[in-house]
Amino acid sequence: MSQPTSATPYAIHRDRTIGDATRLLHAGAPALREGSGPVNVPVVRTSTVRFESVQAHEDHHHRRAAGEPVATYGRHGLDTHRALEEAILGLEGGHRAFLAPSGLSAIALVLVGLLSPGDHALVADSVYSPVRRVDRTLLQRLGIELEYFSPAHDDLGSKIRATTKLVYLESPSSLLFEVLDLPRLAALAHQHGVLVATDNTWSGGWFYKPLALGADISIQAATKYIAGHSDVMQGVVVVDSPALAEKIGLAYEALGLSVSADDAYLALRGVRTLPIRLAQHQRHATEIAEFLQTQAQVERVFYPALSTDPGHALWQRDFTGASGLVSFAFRDGDLAAAHAFVDALRFFGIGASWGGYESLALIAAPERLNEHSYWQGTTPVVRLHIGLEDPADLKADLAQAFEAAATRRERVAA
Ligand SMILES: *Cc1c(COP(=O)(O)O)cnc(C)c1O
Repeated sequence: MSQPTSATPYAIHRDRTIGDATRLLHAGAPALREGSGPVNVPVVRTSTVRFESVQAHEDHHHRRAAGEPVATYGRHGLDTHRALEEAILGLEGGHRAFLAPSGLSAIALVLVGLLSPGDHALVADSVYSPVRRVDRTLLQRLGIELEYFSPAHDDLGSKIRATTKLVYLESPSSLLFEVLDLPRLAALAHQHGVLVATDNTWSGGWFYKPLALGADISIQAATKYIAGHSDVMQGVVVVDSPALAEKIGLAYEALGLSVSADDAYLALRGVRTLPIRLAQHQRHATEIAEFLQTQAQVERVFYPALSTDPGHALWQRDFTGASGLVSFAFRDGDLAAAHAFVDALRFFGIGASWGGYESLALIAAPERLNEHSYWQGTTPVVRLHIGLEDPADLKADLAQAFEAAATRRERVAA
């Protein structure tokens, strides 16, 4: 492979003439020095940056001020950070990537970076619920108003006000995976000069390209599929224009956000195998979703790749695959049966988060589900992350857990 030699090196992460996987795997590869070098960029830890002259120091400040992703201080990160940013840009497209210490901090960065006192933003009501906490505990205090709308039932255009600055989406949504019509919603927002940001964590950026579908900003919890091994917290914000990069960059600097080189390395190491991991998560999750549909205690399965899912047509149009998250609602079940079910699972850890190699189960809190206009059911919902274990073992595990739930119901009824 030819190596960059000119002042403006060949930016493989922006080369749309090569395939998505090739771009993702080769973006950010370290240049060879004196004829050789490692495959991976090393972990470059530093608290500050040294320069060979005062002039070089000043030049870097100017380049940074002009929007180039160069470091003048340790907080900005060096080679490891640049390599990860390039891999993320290779994945999502876009103009500039910002690394944040968690997915939630990436979300807060976008909201605080774009909204000012008196501004209004419209947020899909099925959004990742901690967004509402950012709203209650931070944005309201700053005089910023978030309004939650129903992507399925509301006319977005009629909700946009003169003070509306942002439409904030997540597709598919948290817990029930409501698929949103991003091209339509983005076109409506843009008609009114309103920016669109969307949380793309579910797809890992592999199965879904929000910036190509009209969003201005794509956000991910890299904690999930990008890192992929349940061993790091991280977030990314990808913006589509230099103007947005400047705006988000100012807030990023003001908040002093930074990611350790070790964590950047873990995310970079993880993201190289994203395509193959997600393909396997999809295979396993599809098998489990179909299995769940055959279960007597299951009323409904939430997984956009199923032809019975209401979001299936939109998913087919806008996505190239489905990830490992599957939820289901119990038929006539009470919470005690759901507890018995989850407690009986052997190969599913009980816990929040997902996107690692392993399976997880979580009872969706009813008060969270009540916030989502997408589904009006009242029976308990269990969210599963289907990992890379043998699907036969997962199915056997789920089957015995359904038996435990049935036994619990019989005992309650007796
Ligand atoms: C987990 C998650 C986040 C937050 O990421 P953290 O790294 O845990 O802060 C944001 N959005 C979605 C959809 C998530 O699932």
